[in-house]
Amino acid sequence: MLNQTVPMDNNPPAVAARRRPPALRQCCDSYVCPVCDQVVELTDFRQVVWHQKPGHKPMEFDD
Ligand SMILES: [Zn+2]
Repeated sequence: MLNQTVPMDNNPPAVAARRRPPALRQCCDSYVCPVCDQVVELTDFRQVVWHQKPGHKPMEFDD
């Protein structure tokens, strides 16, 4: 269940996020993003960066 009341202007510093790798959520090469419920491939740097942004939407894949 997603809670949509996440404060947008109270973002934690990016440095803090880097210090805490998602080890608990991580399994193999992907994990489910707690913000948008999308599967994040840890081998894709663009996806990792995208899903680190607070309050983001699911990444769109347009071919
Ligand atoms: Zn996400």
